[in-house]
Amino acid sequence: MSQSLVVFSSGGQVLYQYNSKISAFNELVYSIANDDVVEHDGHFVSVKVNQKKFYCLRRDKIYGAISFDLVTTIDVDKIRSTLADVLKTFVRLSEEEEFDKLKKLIDYQFAELMQSKHDTPAASTPTSGTATPKKAPKKKMRKWVNGELVDYESDAVLDYLADTNQGDGLREIKVDQSAFVTQDDLVLVNELHDILDEEDDEEVPKSGFFAKLGLFFGTSAATTELSKKFREQLVSKNVHPSTAQAVTDRLETKLPATSSIAKYKEALIEELTKVLTPNVSTDLLFDIKKRGDRPYVISVVGVNGVGKSTNLAKLAYWLLQNNLNVLICACDTFRSGAVEQLKVHVNNLKSLNRSGLKIDLFEKGYGGGDHVVNTAKLAIAYGQEAGFDIVLIDTAGRTHSNAKLMAPLKKFGDAANPDKIIMVGEALVGTDSVEQATNFNNAFGNRRNLDFFIISKVDTVGDLVGTMINMVMATKVPILFMGTGQTYTDIKRLNVKAVVDLLTRE
Ligand code: GDP
Repeated sequence: MSQSLVVFSSGGQVLYQYNSKISAFNELVYSIANDDVVEHDGHFVSVKVNQKKFYCLRRDKIYGAISFDLVTTIDVDKIRSTLADVLKTFVRLSEEEEFDKLKKLIDYQFAELMQSKHDTPAASTPTSGTATPKKAPKKKMRKWVNGELVDYESDAVLDYLADTNQGDGLREIKVDQSAFVTQDDLVLVNELHDILDEEDDEEVPKSGFFAKLGLFFGTSAATTELSKKFREQLVSKNVHPSTAQAVTDRLETKLPATSSIAKYKEALIEELTKVLTPNVSTDLLFDIKKRGDRPYVISVVGVNGVGKSTNLAKLAYWLLQNNLNVLICACDTFRSGAVEQLKVHVNNLKSLNRSGLKIDLFEKGYGGGDHVVNTAKLAIAYGQEAGFDIVLIDTAGRTHSNAKLMAPLKKFGDAANPDKIIMVGEALVGTDSVEQATNFNNAFGNRRNLDFFIISKVDTVGDLVGTMINMVMATKVPILFMGTGQTYTDIKRLNVKAVVDLLTRE
């Protein structure tokens, strides 16, 4: 297979190449200037020319492009995220003049992507009459640590159910203690820095959306026209159209009828920052310390599969770091395997816990209706009796649009009366996030709302971080943490500036 990678400047200067022949690069530039280009989003395009596929991603003034044979199929999201990683590596390491490291890392990132290719069956040469299933490649997790891309094997992920049958005890579980920072005797979660791109604020770029806008309108334009363009941009980052509309409506009441692009953008940044900056304290630890002799009860809710139990386990790990004894209560008493899944998390947390603190599971098996409420009440009573500081209650995942499944949440909230109710929502979910957040927020009756969100899987969405704005704007509920991977230390505090930068950057 012929495959190549090239990093080039907006002036056409080739800055880095892997396996690249100049003719292929010329073909690519020619094809990008053509009309047949598929725009996946404002930054990412693809095109097919001469039996080859080209993908190109722009980051400010540099471009990363790869090409490979038409018969080869690679997941588009994977290509996008690899190109983003490549450009990130290129920018960081060329600034630091670490050219050896740069070559090693970029070549590695590209080779990794190529390993995930599938040749389409029509193109592959049959070798014998019997098909041998291909062994799935070992899954790698990738993560940025202090500006370096670190790879580690999938054994570190939290999908631990498979391990329950291993008779020889638990294998080593990896955690990254640099995820935390100690301040005044409290162990705090770090802000999100390494997954989202960090960039200096830029002046209006000379190409692309803003430039086109500038050409159309000169330096200033009707505010309503600017709203329209900026709405399109927000929607392209996964912001729900109605949320984007509400944001730009607010701006129109504040700005004059005509305004410059720069002024509009400044007002937009201010508005989004205001939306995301919580107006209640997210300082859960102080709240926990103020509790009386009853354990502090936190319940986690959300749609199925969003990462409730994983993030509950991450919370438990962080609370243990803060010298708090944690009892985890299995109140997903519907989904088969849910109790066992929590048991695995608790066993892992036990094996990581060297402090002598208590971490345990409270479970009463499976059952419907009142069983959930009874289990929660018994867990809280047991937690108090046994001297636990925290009771963390997992609940069954439910479809937010199914009133019958949502109704028991009110009963549960009334009976367990948790100090905090946290909804886990996926960053991946996009526009449905408005309805999810609203329905869960309304599920506990008139006198009770959600207290926090944990936005999970932020590591999988690149700059499409609109879900955060959608959920917060729909409910005014603040974000406590973001889930950024599958190990127990993969949580981060929201970095409002970084998220607003991503949303407002072209
Ligand atoms: P639940 O059904 O809501 O309890 O979801 P689980 O906790 O079982 O998580 C579902 C899947 O999502 C599992 O494979 C988790 O490892 C994965 N997951 C959870 N949080 C994250 C995250 O922040 N990032 C990534 N990449 N995966 C996550």
